[in-house]
Amino acid sequence: MKRTLFTDEHEMFRDQYRKFLKKEVQPNAAAWREAGIVPREMFEKMGALGYLLTWADEIHGGLGLEDFRYQQIMLEEDATYGEPGFYHTLHSRLVAPYIKNIGNAEQHASFLPKCVTGEHILAVAMTEPDAGSDLAGMKTRAVDKGDYWELSGSKTYISNGINADLIVTAAKTNPENPRQIGLFIVERGMEGFERGRNLKKLGLKAQDTAELFFSNVKIPKHNVLGDAHKGFHYLMQGLAEERLLGSVGYLSAAQRAFELTKNYVQERRAFGKSVSEFQNTRFKMAEMRAEIDVAQVYIDHCVVCDMRLHKYML
Ligand SMILES: Cc1cc2nc3c(=O)[nH]c(=O)nc-3n(C[C@H](O)[C@H](O)[C@H](O)COP(=O)(O)OP(=O)(O)OC[C@H]3O[C@@H](n4cnc5c(N)ncnc54)[C@H](O)[C@@H]3O)c2cc1C
Repeated sequence: MKRTLFTDEHEMFRDQYRKFLKKEVQPNAAAWREAGIVPREMFEKMGALGYLLTWADEIHGGLGLEDFRYQQIMLEEDATYGEPGFYHTLHSRLVAPYIKNIGNAEQHASFLPKCVTGEHILAVAMTEPDAGSDLAGMKTRAVDKGDYWELSGSKTYISNGINADLIVTAAKTNPENPRQIGLFIVERGMEGFERGRNLKKLGLKAQDTAELFFSNVKIPKHNVLGDAHKGFHYLMQGLAEERLLGSVGYLSAAQRAFELTKNYVQERRAFGKSVSEFQNTRFKMAEMRAEIDVAQVYIDHCVVCDMRLHKYML
């Protein structure tokens, strides 16, 4: 199916990124899956080529490319030529936007530049052993101690949890109101902050999904994002684009699965002919192709809507 979403510039970017994946990621992906983690240097390699936080302002070292399609292209290419467990998208497009959208100018200046270069890796910590979908049930709390906040509790299933240098951590800030939470930037090396296991998973094996523990961690006021009681509101604001990122990734995986299946049925022979020559196989393949194409048109439309919403495509 011919798509109409991308310009020649996007296609050039796709080509460059694909070359990068073939050279730097593909040959190493199996080792990373075995190790359960992607080496930190990979973030720096991405940063050096401008692939992280593409949207960041030039003043912070970014390219100022807010266009969602660049991230979409990276997600699509990752599914075929990259390693889906290399969670640079979480870093660039899911966590860093919290700092951009909620943080103030001083926070932008102190946190964003090293995220652009990949020297600092980002994670977001909401989930707890007893609080997943029901975020209001979280137990991690932060107490205002005047010139700092004191954070205590634990988190689990945190993507990039071992590699992360800056962790946007959600904690309750009002014992009287379970819906009041704040977002606190916990930094590598802060006293009282420790990491637990890198959890074994069924998939995304190269992605370090970890437990985190906080014991009376002193969080400077400079590391509080926005209003310390409005965290729910901030988290909800990011949801629409996070769902779009998810959808692009899942559909890219479906495209890849289709290609692998097509190759298989063409190569594999049974009863004297290629499996692709059986009528039932053809029906099934055609049905899958049509469903994936319909989903692709819909997702591309959602990307356009997202860009219009952010006013960088009219
Ligand atoms: C690979 C991976 C990476 C992740 N990365 C992160 C991350 O970076 N940061 C982060 O904060 N979190 C992360 N998570 C956690 C993820 O966000 C949670 O898994 C998700 O929020 C669901 O929470 P939960 O797993 O505790 O299950 P829940 O959805 O809380 O469910 C717990 C149990 O209750 C049942 N249940 C839930 N709701 C209902 C209902 N309405 N009706 C009936 N039964 C119900 C479920 O079936 C289940 O048995 C990650 C998870 C995975 C697997």
